[in-house]
Amino acid sequence: MTDFISLATAGVRGLKPYQPGKPIDELEREYGVSNALKLASNENPLGPSPLAVAAAQRVVQEVWLYPDGNGFKLKEKIATRCNVSMDQITLGNGSSDPLEFAVRVFVSPGSEVLFSAHSFAIYPILTQAAGGRGIAVPAREWGCDLDAMRAAVTEKTALIFIANPNNPTGTWLDGTSLEGFIRELPSRVMVVIDEAYFEYASHPGVGADGYPDTMAWVERYPNLVVTRTFSKCYGLAGLRVGYSVSHPQVAELMNRVRPPFNVNSIALAAAEAALDDDAHRRRSVEMNAEGLQQLMMGFERLGLEYIPSVGNFICVDVGREAAPVYEALLYEGVIVRPVANYGMPHHLRITIGTSEHNDMMLNALQKVVTR
Ligand SMILES: *Cc1c(COP(=O)(O)O)cnc(C)c1O
Repeated sequence: MTDFISLATAGVRGLKPYQPGKPIDELEREYGVSNALKLASNENPLGPSPLAVAAAQRVVQEVWLYPDGNGFKLKEKIATRCNVSMDQITLGNGSSDPLEFAVRVFVSPGSEVLFSAHSFAIYPILTQAAGGRGIAVPAREWGCDLDAMRAAVTEKTALIFIANPNNPTGTWLDGTSLEGFIRELPSRVMVVIDEAYFEYASHPGVGADGYPDTMAWVERYPNLVVTRTFSKCYGLAGLRVGYSVSHPQVAELMNRVRPPFNVNSIALAAAEAALDDDAHRRRSVEMNAEGLQQLMMGFERLGLEYIPSVGNFICVDVGREAAPVYEALLYEGVIVRPVANYGMPHHLRITIGTSEHNDMMLNALQKVVTR
C-alpha cells in the first residue's frame, strides 16, 4: 500500500491533532458514571440566549436554501456594535476560521510565527500545517512577556498571535502595554489578537482593569487582526460562529481563502439574536465573576495555588503531577482539562460553572487531593 504519510507535506507529517476536552457521553460510556459534569471546554453553563434558540428554530425550516455567503445581516450587527465598517469583518466557522485564514494568507514556508508559551494550542498547529516555524516565546508569570516577544522578532517574522485574555492561563495584557508593543513593531508583521473571552474581560466592574478596545486601533495599525467568537460567553459553541475585524484589504485577502458558505444559516440567525440579548450576556458574565470568587476561595481552603484569571476558567496548581488527579476526577464524574501539553504538568484548567457545578467540582477535588 502507498505510505500516505510520506506523501503528506512536511508540516502535516509532524503534526499532532488538537486535543479537545473529553465529551460527556464518552466519559459516561468509558467510566460507567452518570450525570457527569464537564468543566473542560470553557462553555457557558447558562447555555445560549433563549432568543438565539428561538431564532435557530425558525431558520430550521429554511435549511434547504444556501445561507447568505456574505452574512450581511450578522456583519451589519457586528459593525454597529463594534463601531467598524462591514468590509472589515470576516465571518468564520468559529473564530478558529479567521485564525486559520490569517495564517494561510500571511505565513509562507519558512516564515516565523510568534506566540507566548502556555498559549492556545491551535497557534502552533496552524503554523506548522502552513510550513511556518512556530516560536513559543517564554512567558512571564504565566502570561505573555511583551518585551521577550519584541526581542524575538526577526526579518522572518510574519505573524504574532496574542490571546487576550490567554487560554489556558487566564492572564491578560492592559491596553497601554499592548498598544505600545504594536506601535513599535515593523508594520510588515501581522498581529492577531485573539479575544475569545472579550465579553468577560471587558465587562465593567468585573473585567480586567485597563482592558483595551483593540477594534478602535485597527485604523491606526493596519497590520492588526482582532478575532472574537460566539462560542464562549454567547453559549453557541456547537453552532460554530466567530469573526475577525481588520483593515478592509486584509479582510479581502482573508476572504480569498475563506470556504464559501463557511457559516451556516442556523448559526447566522442564532448569532444575530444572541448579539441583541444584553441581559443574557450580563447574567453570564456576572455569574462567571461570582463563580471565579467561589473557586478561588475553594482552592484557598484546599491550600492550592491558582493563576488569577479574567476568563471563564482558571488554572489550579494541584501541587503534584496533575494527570492522576485528572483521572481520579473522571471517576468522580467531573471532566476538567489537563494542561501538561501546554507546559503546565502540575495544573488543571477548570471552566467556571454554575454555583452548584462549582461546589460539585470542589467537593470532588477535595476528595481526590486529600486522599
Ligand atoms: C475557545 C477559543 C477560541 C475559539 O474557538 P471557536 O469556537 O473556534 O470560536 C479561540 N481562541 C481561544 C484562545 C479560545 O480559547
